[in-house]
Amino acid sequence: FGLKGCQKIRGPQIRNLLATKDFILFDCDGVIWNGETAITGAVAVVNSLIRRGKNVVFVTNNSTRPRENYVHKFCRLGFTDVMLEQIFSSSYCSALYLRDVVKVCGQVFVIGCDGLRRELQEAGIPCVEETDEPNATIFDCALAPDVKAVLVGHDDKMTFLKLAKASCYLRDPDCLFLATDTDPWHPLSSGRILPGSGSLTAALEVASGRKATVIGKPSRFMFECISSQFSGVDPAQCLMIGDRLQTDMLFGSNCGLDTVLTLTGVSQMEEAQEYSNSELTSDRSLVPDYVVDTIADFLLAFDE
Ligand code: PLP
Ligand code: CA
Repeated sequence: FGLKGCQKIRGPQIRNLLATKDFILFDCDGVIWNGETAITGAVAVVNSLIRRGKNVVFVTNNSTRPRENYVHKFCRLGFTDVMLEQIFSSSYCSALYLRDVVKVCGQVFVIGCDGLRRELQEAGIPCVEETDEPNATIFDCALAPDVKAVLVGHDDKMTFLKLAKASCYLRDPDCLFLATDTDPWHPLSSGRILPGSGSLTAALEVASGRKATVIGKPSRFMFECISSQFSGVDPAQCLMIGDRLQTDMLFGSNCGLDTVLTLTGVSQMEEAQEYSNSELTSDRSLVPDYVVDTIADFLLAFDE
């Protein structure tokens, strides 16, 4: 191992890097926006890349919205040229996985927000109805007979009863166990943190004694979705830009893409350097090839 990676790049170096790439993959939160606020300069960067003929796609582990809502969010924040086909969310990719990869026949028990359920419905995948059983307990609640998969995403209405039902479904070895993502937590603008769906998946992994198949970053599946929907996707000509080492940078490594860490989100330079000094190959997969302070640094690459 050497000191490859973590190279801080600016204007001309960014320009040279972009010249070798025709696909730009952007993580969303922490890269192009933070919550409901666009990162300064991100709109101009995204628009410039699209205008220069680059293929731009967005890969987000946030499973709470259907893609349609993302189009509205992009618009609201000023990214007016982004289309549905450019958005790859962990909820959309979960629906593709259930429909096209495992071809699930039966119902899916979903722990997640309405947006996740909507995305599955759009793909024609039946979900177990959330019944109103105000007084039901784990001893007497109804269990659906034909549940062939449990899918865990972000759920701000998580309950012990949902966890209990999911663990019962997973007793059946033919029932698949999927997670939209395993993000541990997310920063909130207030300085507080939001527990991520990884924390819910972990609870169910313990209760069921099973391991979930992960759909979102760092799993390769999202890249397979992109490759199957665009023609001529060559990993060597793709650039993955993200803010979290354990998801975005590892995703890039897993898919053979060059990676850029931007410092407007979760991970900072010190953490990246620590991984870069590690002797473990698994740690070194988290090291970004390049680092920028903010996506706005890309603007300097467009001057002249
Ligand atoms: N999941 C949830 C529920 C979130 O709130 C966030 C970020 O705010 C994410 C996932 C991470 O999204 P991304 O992959 O775009 O950083
Ligand atoms: Ca992010």
